[in-house]
Amino acid sequence: MSALVQVTGVRKSYGAHEVLAGIDLTVEKGNVLCIIGPSGSGKSTLLRCLNHLEKIDAGRIEVCGELIGYERHHGHLREMREKDVARQRRKVGMVFQNFNLFAHRTVLENVVEAPVRVKGEPRDEVTARAVELLDRVGLGHRQHAYPSQLSGGQQQRVAIARALAMRPELMLFDEPTSALDPELVSEVLAVMKDLAVSGMTMVVVTHEIGFAREVADELVFMDGGVIVESGPPAEVIANPTHARTQEFLGRVL
Ligand code: ADP
Ligand code: MG
Repeated sequence: MSALVQVTGVRKSYGAHEVLAGIDLTVEKGNVLCIIGPSGSGKSTLLRCLNHLEKIDAGRIEVCGELIGYERHHGHLREMREKDVARQRRKVGMVFQNFNLFAHRTVLENVVEAPVRVKGEPRDEVTARAVELLDRVGLGHRQHAYPSQLSGGQQQRVAIARALAMRPELMLFDEPTSALDPELVSEVLAVMKDLAVSGMTMVVVTHEIGFAREVADELVFMDGGVIVESGPPAEVIANPTHARTQEFLGRVL
């Protein structure tokens, strides 16, 4: 089996509020999983658990065949040391709703920063790769601009290039187009589609049902901390079997 992400029985609470109430999902290498669901259903929390930004209370998460956050020690599982956490995190790129670029750095510097600082890669090699990545997201001509000089769609494309510069094995997107003006959404989705076609394994939280239908291998509908329904996107969208999915799709379609 070639599952790149395997989530089993994952639970997460904040105080008495159980935000993830037993999540199971699998993403095969090279596949795209889209997650939809109402606000507060636990989508961001689930993504954050995949990337060590939150700790789970129960269950297990494996990424690239490794348990996230835990390691075997004399036959028991113990919490991973910080340097191993950092090593795991480097395999996973994340793109947020609000870009989070460094405002006082140029586009190129934003993309070059992490591989040099975090991985210690030679700056000239990383710079060459960064220029290629910026070309790939259609921003080769803006490499010396500052984020504030770019549109939101351009900034988000820089954020994608920045994540790719770390050569991740998995890319997570948390509502990457939700903060954009409507006319800028398609340029970001086009870059994401290109990435999917190139074989990147992706988990995408999005309200863009058209993107999910076209690009996703599997579509998951979450509500109240559980996966209510999942399957091939065309099926879930055309024939949702649960009332909650029907009601949600009725609102976003
Ligand atoms: P979604 O991304 O689907 O909108 P989230 O995963 O962001 O949902 O949040 C799920 C629930 O968990 C919400 O009710 C939210 O208020 C709560 N929550 C998220 N993060 C925290 C936190 N750090 N502390 C307390 N509650 C949180
Ligand atoms: Mg969210």
